[in-house]
Amino acid sequence: MIRSIEQYLESLRDGRVIYCLGERVADVTAHPILKRVIQNSAMDYYFTNDPVYRSLFIGKNEEGEEVHSLFLPPKRAEDLLRRREIFLTSWRTGGGTNLHCVGVDALEASRVAAGRMDRRLGTHYVERVEAYRRYLQKTDLGIIGAMTDVKGDRSLRPSKQQKHKDYYVRVVDRQKDGIIVRGAKMHISSTPGANEAIVMPCRAHGEEDKDYAVVFAVPLNAKGITLITMEPTMREEGEEALWDYPLSAVSGHLASECMIVFEDVFIPWERVFLCGEWEFSRDFTYLFAIFHRLFGVCRMTSELELLTGIGALMAEYNGIETYSHIRDKLAWLAMYTEAVDIIGKASCLYCEKEPDSDLVYPNIVYINTAKYLFADNYHQAMKLVHDICGGIVATIPTYRDWVNPETRPFLEKYLGGKASIPTEHRLRTIRLLKDLTHPHFQVGSIHGEGSLAAQRMFLYAGANWEKYRAAAKKAAGIPGWEEEPTYGPLPDYPSCIVHQFHPPEKS
Ligand SMILES: Cc1cc2nc3c(=O)[nH]c(=O)nc-3n(C[C@H](O)[C@H](O)[C@H](O)COP(=O)(O)OP(=O)(O)OC[C@H]3O[C@@H](n4cnc5c(N)ncnc54)[C@H](O)[C@@H]3O)c2cc1C
Repeated sequence: MIRSIEQYLESLRDGRVIYCLGERVADVTAHPILKRVIQNSAMDYYFTNDPVYRSLFIGKNEEGEEVHSLFLPPKRAEDLLRRREIFLTSWRTGGGTNLHCVGVDALEASRVAAGRMDRRLGTHYVERVEAYRRYLQKTDLGIIGAMTDVKGDRSLRPSKQQKHKDYYVRVVDRQKDGIIVRGAKMHISSTPGANEAIVMPCRAHGEEDKDYAVVFAVPLNAKGITLITMEPTMREEGEEALWDYPLSAVSGHLASECMIVFEDVFIPWERVFLCGEWEFSRDFTYLFAIFHRLFGVCRMTSELELLTGIGALMAEYNGIETYSHIRDKLAWLAMYTEAVDIIGKASCLYCEKEPDSDLVYPNIVYINTAKYLFADNYHQAMKLVHDICGGIVATIPTYRDWVNPETRPFLEKYLGGKASIPTEHRLRTIRLLKDLTHPHFQVGSIHGEGSLAAQRMFLYAGANWEKYRAAAKKAAGIPGWEEEPTYGPLPDYPSCIVHQFHPPEKS
């Protein structure tokens, strides 16, 4: 089934217990802040209902029914490449964070791990996961993945925690029809706009913690679940927010992460995908990480395209695009962006096949290389773009200054760059960089007391080149170092010592 956007919105008016800024929210689709989170999540339904994107976002299940492509199990490199294309398309659109992105990764991790358990233990978990997959295909529900526990004292295992034993989600009772779970998950993305969650452990568990080795699927309006959103950092809707925070104002994901509290929630057995088989808890966590890094690398690719694009625009707008040090920086940014993208793609092309099954997942080394490459170099990339942009990324005036007729002429006149570029374009690009990188202190560190280039000028002009040259000349045996104050007075090694090793010639 493919739901319409209206059907999706209607399904969120489900009586869930959700709080934002300390207040219970009756209808997430009507709440002034959360509705923007929902707007973002609704993009998954926009794409499946848009004729242009249908062929990418919709596939057919084994029964020939049209379903969201992300609910189909990846069985070949092409399936992973398709997921990649979906994630990239959503991110490049600007708003889409992919409502389903964490949930479907939890689903596929559960499927592969269930197969391993069934083969080793003779259990029947694959049937349950596949039945749940069919349920998602038939209902087209929004699904998230809740892995990260609140954890308490990080140095202690779950059952050794001292204040209480609920820092990791656990089974507190096993009943005929199902289990009762308690605990809390933290930072869970897209929660306000989701219908269901797959809940998994965030670490390997030992035998003494087998009650914490639990995986299940649950509707977010289930009795006993409380959702608490993170602090939204967005301003009010409208032109001002769009001008000052062009990314945050439209994506709304700054209020999407929630704490999910489970106070004795009942989960029927058919929704339980792991319960006490502690040796497999690690498999769920690791497999989730492998699947989810593919999504992450797509997000990173689009973020780098944006950052590199800002660098290129600002180089042009500031009139510095032909300088060699600027071109060096832009070339590095392009190389970094393309490397993350292509290694992510390689992880699909050279995917790994799960033994004794028809399932595949991204190449473990390649996908982790792409993620690491991104994370390890991101601060360097921001540094370069902040450097190209100038200190104004920290000190730029706001929309209100722009629209005030008393101040606008000054902004128009003095904050322009290259003559052919409207001042407004320059300011909008700088606001975008500010929003993307939240840079006041970072930019202050780079541009405060002068830009990097200014220090390089001083360094080049002020460096003691005579000393460095003397060092090299002396070592190379080239005359011209003898008068230099540091190297000149030093003994002429090795000639100063070498004669000591030869006995004086006999007369
Ligand atoms: C914006 C955002 C969105 C997210 N979305 C999701 C989501 O949708 N679903 C989900 O499940 N999770 C989500 N996460 C959670 C994310 O995966 C975690 O933040 C991350 O795994 C780190 O866990 P933590 O925040 O609990 O930090 P901690 O685990 O507390 O880490 C803090 C520090 O302690 C160290 N540390 C912790 N334990 C140990 C130990 N035993 N030994 C040595 N060092 C240790 C860590 O290495 C780190 O340096 C999201 C997080 C963010 C910020």
